[in-house]
Amino acid sequence: MPFFEEYCEEIRDLWDSRILTNGGEKHKQLEESLQNYLGVERIALFVNGHSALECVFEAMGLGKDGRNEVITSPFTFASTTHAIVRKGLKPVFCDIKPSDLTIDPEKIESLITEKTCAIVPVHVYGNLCDVDAIKQIADSYGLKVIYDAAHAFGVKRDGMGAGSFGDASMFSFHATKVFNTIEGGAVAFSDEGLSGKLAQWRNFGIAGPESVAFAGGNSKMNEFAAAMGICNLRHVDEEIAKRRIVAERYWERLEGIPGLRLCRPPENIEYNYAYMPVLFDVVEFGATRDDVFDALDREGVKARKYFYPLTSDFECYKAGFDSSLTPIAKKAAESALTLPMYADLALQDVDRICDVVAGKR
Ligand SMILES: *Cc1c(COP(=O)(O)O)cnc(C)c1O
Repeated sequence: MPFFEEYCEEIRDLWDSRILTNGGEKHKQLEESLQNYLGVERIALFVNGHSALECVFEAMGLGKDGRNEVITSPFTFASTTHAIVRKGLKPVFCDIKPSDLTIDPEKIESLITEKTCAIVPVHVYGNLCDVDAIKQIADSYGLKVIYDAAHAFGVKRDGMGAGSFGDASMFSFHATKVFNTIEGGAVAFSDEGLSGKLAQWRNFGIAGPESVAFAGGNSKMNEFAAAMGICNLRHVDEEIAKRRIVAERYWERLEGIPGLRLCRPPENIEYNYAYMPVLFDVVEFGATRDDVFDALDREGVKARKYFYPLTSDFECYKAGFDSSLTPIAKKAAESALTLPMYADLALQDVDRICDVVAGKR
């Protein structure tokens, strides 16, 4: 959170303007600042990341030509799969790479049918997908690529922002993310034709004062959320720098423990240190992910089983899917744990957490 006084100062204008939502000054300012910060051509703000994802599917007209299959990863948060299903599309689950847990491009092609309309990969933990291979496949089959970049705020590859790949990328500004607007989200995109459509889909399909073109919903970001974003954006580099110190301590302490795998980004990646995933190999480590989770819990440390279960194993989906067809994702869901990660996490606490983890061997 920003300093209390800083936020109060930022929202003072709103008592003069009386403009609380519908694209006011704060909204405009945040949009411009984010476009710059993320290094993307265009950006549209939303009430949350999930609505942003649903809106981009609507604005692109996915499914309208009868092609309704979307190739995606089951190793993700509920939102990715739900957005596809809620827009009347059919998720087709593709396995992931063991190295960084992003979608495996080598397994995409065999899932493509004449009904495939898009690929929705996830930059999970801020690990960038193999964007070049994905683009090549999408281009040769005429598919849209929409990235779930909820974890990838500020991530860059060779100086290129995560949001500049694919046809569009969704960012989440939820309170738990590296950068937050309390609740919020955005779509980054390059096609100018999408600007008006996204704006219309997020505001009831309204085209003008007396004209409504289609049944859009309401997913606008309000001025108070935008003001929170303006404040937080001033401090986000410092936030990431502090997270880096925390991450490096974790890596230093956990590196080399047999059966424990870290997920360090490659050299050409500017990382955001959003999460601290570790993967346990039961045989080599000698204890399960759940054993470590329970041991941490007993010490009052709240780790998360991100992501377990796979979305294809949710009660609402499992009857229609067979998660044994994505064995690497299945194994990752059973062996991954994300450890506490935030800028103000004290290094002594990191040490204590690492002692508990290492102690389970
Ligand atoms: C947080 C998150 C979302 C949804 O974002 P909200 O802003 O909470 O709606 C989508 N996908 C992933 C992978 C996320 O972590």
